[in-house]
Amino acid sequence: MRRLLLWCAQNRWLATHVPRWRFARRAVRRFLPGEGFEAALKAAVDFKTQRIGALFTLLGENLTDLADADSVVKHYEEVLAASREIEAEISVKPTQLGLDIDAAAAFANLQRLARAAEKAKRFLWIDMEGSAYTDRTLDLYRRLRPQAPHVGVALQAYLYRTVSDVAGLLPLRPAIRLVKGAYAEPPEVAFTAKRDVDANYLALCVFMLPEVMRSRLRLVLATHDVDLVAKAWRFGQALGMDRSQLEVAMLYGIRAGEQVRLAREGFTVWDLIAYGDAWYAWYLRRLAERPANVWFVARQLLP
Ligand SMILES: Cc1cc2nc3c(=O)[nH]c(=O)nc-3n(C[C@H](O)[C@H](O)[C@H](O)COP(=O)(O)OP(=O)(O)OC[C@H]3O[C@@H](n4cnc5c(N)ncnc54)[C@H](O)[C@@H]3O)c2cc1C
Repeated sequence: MRRLLLWCAQNRWLATHVPRWRFARRAVRRFLPGEGFEAALKAAVDFKTQRIGALFTLLGENLTDLADADSVVKHYEEVLAASREIEAEISVKPTQLGLDIDAAAAFANLQRLARAAEKAKRFLWIDMEGSAYTDRTLDLYRRLRPQAPHVGVALQAYLYRTVSDVAGLLPLRPAIRLVKGAYAEPPEVAFTAKRDVDANYLALCVFMLPEVMRSRLRLVLATHDVDLVAKAWRFGQALGMDRSQLEVAMLYGIRAGEQVRLAREGFTVWDLIAYGDAWYAWYLRRLAERPANVWFVARQLLP
């Protein structure tokens, strides 16, 4: 089911037609407060009252026109200006900045975003896409990081290479958002069994948390796997970590109660709020993460 849903995520015909179906638009509302930024901002204001920070992401990927990438940068510049009153960060995909078209243009766009984020005293995250982009994404990050201390990158625990990527980034005093990984990857590059991905996630935490304690790394655990977070926290406690030093990020609409609980307990919690009309591929990846969600979609077909 996971593979089928991830195949659908990349199918052009479905990507053009499904977003027009009303029941699909109804179903996606579970993961998006709305398509416009105003709805995302409103959700972020509500989260602030619960001590949960917002991580804004405008949906869209694999852009084929640099003019669209330019609009994405301008949009985020407006977002940074509009979200001064709340604790907010932004997260962007390299292919949304033109990486498929021209790597130099994508880097220039990223630099513009980093400058805007610095001016607004905000953090910029670079999402990690499929493994065909890993090298190019890390290259962007390595080049940007020396001039932009408030930029981080997502790394995926399902890739075998991630441990060496972390080791290679450490001299840059990086910021890493650790995720399990959301794309269809072959066994040549990635663990395919969930228990192996989970074990690698924990091993990477054990590797990185001491670096957090030495202030050489900002680490955000981007997962809904609260058991893994609890295990990482037990390790962090043994290192003398304060709760606020453990950062956890989850997606809007998933495990909302756990987000509130972790924030109440004193952990630093972020909610990634996605918005925009280009939700198709992103939404299919959410379904693939938990195929039981497909029944939720099916229920939308009922009157
Ligand atoms: C803040 C954030 C940023 C991310 N950025 C990236 C990125 O840049 N690149 C990338 O490849 N991936 C990214 N992801 C997605 C990530 O790779 C996983 O696909 C996703 O988080 C599901 O894995 P999990 O860690 O929650 O663990 P899982 O073991 O999949 O899930 C743990 C539990 O959480 C719940 N859960 C998980 N997903 C769902 C869902 N979709 N619907 C309902 N319940 C669910 C279930 O109860 C499940 O049992 C991001 C995730 C988060 C939270």
